[in-house]
Amino acid sequence: MDLTNHTIASAARALAAGETTSVALTDAYLKQIAGRDVALHAFVGVFETHAREQAAASDARRAAGTLLGPLDGVPIAIKDNLLVAGEEVTAGSKILKGYLAPEDATVIRKLRDAGMVLLGRTNMDEFAMGSSTEHSAYGPTKHPRDLDRVPGGSSGGSACAVAADLCPAALGSDTGGSIRQPAAFCGIVGFKPSYGRVSRSGLIAMASSLDQIGPMTKTVEDTALLASVIAGKDDRDQTTVDGPAMMFTPTKDLTGVRIGLPREAWGAGMTDGVRARVLEAVEAMKALGAQIVEVDLPYVNEALAVYYVLMPCEVSANLSRFDGMRYGARVLGSDLASTYAASRGAGLGLETRRRVLLGAYALSKGYYDAYYRQARKVRTLIRRAYAEVFSQVDVLLTPTAPSTAFKIGEKTQDPLAMYLEDVFTVGVNVAGLPAISVPCGDVEGLPVGMQLIGKAMDDARVLQIAGAYEAR
Ligand code: GLN
Repeated sequence: MDLTNHTIASAARALAAGETTSVALTDAYLKQIAGRDVALHAFVGVFETHAREQAAASDARRAAGTLLGPLDGVPIAIKDNLLVAGEEVTAGSKILKGYLAPEDATVIRKLRDAGMVLLGRTNMDEFAMGSSTEHSAYGPTKHPRDLDRVPGGSSGGSACAVAADLCPAALGSDTGGSIRQPAAFCGIVGFKPSYGRVSRSGLIAMASSLDQIGPMTKTVEDTALLASVIAGKDDRDQTTVDGPAMMFTPTKDLTGVRIGLPREAWGAGMTDGVRARVLEAVEAMKALGAQIVEVDLPYVNEALAVYYVLMPCEVSANLSRFDGMRYGARVLGSDLASTYAASRGAGLGLETRRRVLLGAYALSKGYYDAYYRQARKVRTLIRRAYAEVFSQVDVLLTPTAPSTAFKIGEKTQDPLAMYLEDVFTVGVNVAGLPAISVPCGDVEGLPVGMQLIGKAMDDARVLQIAGAYEAR
């Protein structure tokens, strides 16, 4: 087998069987990145020396019989908004250029505790705002199958890296779809766990009540393996809880499983190709024994509106720390206020500034009640609507994104068109639910993703059902 064709599971098996070493695997991926990634631009930084050191340490543990777990020695890539002690981390922004992380994010510590090898950091829309990875200070990542197209976003670098065999798997972050939509565009699996299942400590915050870190992998099995490593209660993130294990029992039998098709979502805009592929997936689930039920899920369009009010409010609060004083780039003005303004003006990109302004506006006196408070109320209604629908079905099924990967430059001049990419994904974050995107075929050579949404803390069931579909 080509050393860079691996999944997490197959790499772990090859290591266990002595067919390869972590050093050989790591070298093969580093070589692949140095070659193929010149055109794709999925990575913005490679941890070359550290990766080889970690791999050598893993091989030494294997020789000594002191392995840290089944994934010891398997390489992985991470999004550029996760802190790795001593490494540069920029969240795709000019303002953080040269900033070295003072400590590991909790998920990074957990990867290390499992013995996994960190290959490098992947490109992303600045501060995770976007659906195409075009809003990155480093320039765009390309689609792995068509260099004129986007890989999706904001975790486009991670999705491209996995799809192009530059790593067996990667971590992304998802605030409104940023794991699932690029996974769908690139033809891989992307999973956003329930809010609170994975610690956000050491994730550069976008919108704290919506952000969640999750796996981007080639298979559902890999997603379950990785989710099990990174999940768990953490004293450094008070929103975390210990949920049921993210287990995964292989089966092709969906007898007794009720899958809901929300009428409102299916009435929303999508291309004919996407509709056809996802409906074929529905037929496949039926053939596995699942019961398909049409359900009402009100507020599908309101979820997008609520998201685009609440998210910028949280963004404007979270990003106020990037003021040229404490982090990253500083442009000196004549006094403190003009130094703030000049630093932020020079360091933050257009889309980021747009959202900071929108958020500051919606939170200001006179508008707070009309926008922020109102959106909070509708958020509660959306949560209740999901809770109600999950009394009728086990999971909901929708497309992940309304179209396949679009052309670079196609939507950058039209923010609203870019925001509409998120119509199927943002409700999940607004309600804090687990959701996965699984590949379900191609349209004109470009991948389509199907989304399965579960009730809060029912992550294992989502993985189980996705796994059955994948195994068929
Ligand atoms: N595309 C969405 C946005 O631009 C989602 C981003 C995300 O999930 N980080 O806000």
